[in-house]
Amino acid sequence: MSDNAAYDVDLLVIGAGSGGVRCARIAAGHGARVAIVEARHWGGTCVNLGCVPKKLMVQASEYPDYVADSHGFGWDTQPGRHDWKTLIAAKDREIERLNGIYVSMLEKSGVRLITGFARFEDAHTVVTEPTPLSPDAKPERITAARIVVATGSTPTKLDIEGADLAITSDEVFHLVEMPRRVCIVGSGYIGVEFAGIFAGLGAEVDLVYRQPLPLRGFDEDLRSALHMAIDQRGVRQHVKASPTSIRRNGDAFVVTLDSGVEIEADCVMLATGRHPKTNGLALEKAGVRLDDGGRVAVDAASQTSTPDIYAIGDVTNRINLTPVAIAEGHILADYLFAGHEREWAFDTTPKAVFFTPPLASVGLTEDEATERGPADIYVSSFRPMRHTLSGRESRTLMKLVVDQASQKVVGAHMLGEDAPELMQGLAIAVTAGLRKADFDRTIGIHPTSGEEFVTMRSRTRVAGA
Ligand code: NDP
Repeated sequence: MSDNAAYDVDLLVIGAGSGGVRCARIAAGHGARVAIVEARHWGGTCVNLGCVPKKLMVQASEYPDYVADSHGFGWDTQPGRHDWKTLIAAKDREIERLNGIYVSMLEKSGVRLITGFARFEDAHTVVTEPTPLSPDAKPERITAARIVVATGSTPTKLDIEGADLAITSDEVFHLVEMPRRVCIVGSGYIGVEFAGIFAGLGAEVDLVYRQPLPLRGFDEDLRSALHMAIDQRGVRQHVKASPTSIRRNGDAFVVTLDSGVEIEADCVMLATGRHPKTNGLALEKAGVRLDDGGRVAVDAASQTSTPDIYAIGDVTNRINLTPVAIAEGHILADYLFAGHEREWAFDTTPKAVFFTPPLASVGLTEDEATERGPADIYVSSFRPMRHTLSGRESRTLMKLVVDQASQKVVGAHMLGEDAPELMQGLAIAVTAGLRKADFDRTIGIHPTSGEEFVTMRSRTRVAGA
């Protein structure tokens, strides 16, 4: 245990993203003297270059569907013209408002805010320097009894010729013009979500990925349903394909695939994963070890190889989702300054991908469940009520994975309108370990899509027997 009085602060948090901010605020609430350093944006990736602006853009992209769907209900609504600059300006205003909220939340908690780029001098000392985004920031040297690294992650660019011509999710939120033709590489969260956004806003979209189906790691039935939904959205899918080069062609770009196919686009976006952001931190001066994947290695208590240094969020590359980083930050602050360990059910972390229609999951996929034993599988696929009149070819898929021996619902999966909203509630049921019989005795809400989850009476199949 360090002698805290010898240091400027009890806790220094590096990085004011979701995890860092939560950790700093909770620690300050427990009476610790806390400072937080941020080099770029208060609120981090989620607020500035991730979840929040992404969701606003998803919402923007859905309006043409509402117009088209309204005709079946008797409206003669005509599609209007979309103004990209208006959307970006409105989004920027909202982000600025949120930045202000983050700053005031931290200040009200008694946390000291430091703008600048942090670099370790030793295990208890950090110096901060101005950055291009904050050239006027005053350099500081600060000593801390404990330090939390919460620097997040940054997009990975493929190592191919012309990769520097492509944008990533760091730039997509500030494009000056809406591209008319977009080629997106990668079918993880970001690739799928932006394929949906640009298609909805009226762009021609090519989605290139190396798997036979998008979203590796998700339930196979959900992946197949998503593949069909992406087709229905008019996105051209290039499966089992990888780009080999990107070159300029006048104002446009040409992406060449390993099959030899060439795709011309006004914008190429690489959505090929993210890696932990540790560059420039000089972690080695503090003895903090990175693992082979470049992430800060931590134990279950988020402690690094150096006893008084901890790491949370994407920089540790565990479950890279905002609510998880927040939970990790909260747990750590409680553990360090309140002496108790808060429990969170990371095993049943729900996930959502905001395509249109969106998809969401909690718990085990069918394949994961059957690795543990036989599973009862319940699947329902139907046309949502709205589209019986709108005429839109859009189907909803719902699936429950039930451990046969215990009859516990160990996985729930859905693709369809409001899937993320519904899945939040189902995540409680799966986390609580409820059985299929508990779902069966729950009364539905009629008429909704959600009631299907409590009325799936007939097992579709047994898996893994
Ligand atoms: P993902 O890891 O989700 O997906 C990366 C994609 O890039 C995959 O399709 C992957 O293919 C492909 N890829 C990786 N390397 C190569 C390569 N060398 N050649 C060709 N293809 C490649 O990363 P994202 O960038 O989409 O998102 C990063 C993270 O951000 C997510 O993992 C998630 O944690 C978070 N996020 C969460 C969101 C949400 O909660 N809604 C939204 C956006 C981001 P393959 O599958 O074959 O490996």
